[in-house]
Amino acid sequence: MSISDSITRFKNDLPDHVELVAVSKTKPISDLQEAYDAGQRVFGENKIQEMTQKWEQLPKDIKWHMIGHVQTNKVKYMAPYVSLVHAVDRIKLLKEIDKQARNNDRIIEVLIQVKIAEEDSKFGMEEAAVIALFENNTLDAFPNVRVKGLMGMATFTDDKVQIGNEFKKLSYLYERFRESAMLSILSCGMSGDYDIAIAHGSTMIRVGSAIFGARNYK
Ligand SMILES: *Cc1c(COP(=O)(O)O)cnc(C)c1O
Repeated sequence: MSISDSITRFKNDLPDHVELVAVSKTKPISDLQEAYDAGQRVFGENKIQEMTQKWEQLPKDIKWHMIGHVQTNKVKYMAPYVSLVHAVDRIKLLKEIDKQARNNDRIIEVLIQVKIAEEDSKFGMEEAAVIALFENNTLDAFPNVRVKGLMGMATFTDDKVQIGNEFKKLSYLYERFRESAMLSILSCGMSGDYDIAIAHGSTMIRVGSAIFGARNYK
């Protein structure tokens, strides 16, 4: 299926409350332009330098989501334009995003990445740390950051029950703080598991290969 056909199919099939982030990492500008021409306006990248180059070349009404792990010293390069940072997993990063947002006279929206996978994944905050973050009013110290929700990645496995259980854990945590912390985004689900994620309350899926085809990693 072509890129534009995939975009059209997702637009037709997704429930209204679920937003599609087209994950375009490693893909050429021409592929992003094709998705754009099919109506896609939200793109996800996992490297700040690559995202910034694409931002410079493509139409300015695109919303750029940083979905990958963020190095603190690179926040400044995306601070002028990034629309949502999905994988905030430490206070030090919140602090730097707050500082760079202030330097750019804006508020930057972020999600807290929660470690939900059983496999030993490197990134994401432990559930207890996320609870403490919301209950201790930690976020008050970062007025130029707005936490809009949670993000998680399930274990890479064919076991749909396990994937479902991991997403369930994430969505319980989201529901627990949704009203008090005014959250509205639950980012979970990728090409292989977005249907399971949506069944467990996802409001934002991050889809790469199902739109753009397999990636050639260098
Ligand atoms: C690459 C990536 C995706 C998309 O993966 P696909 O399996 O190609 O859909 C989603 N989320 C994150 C954090 C990624 O790095």
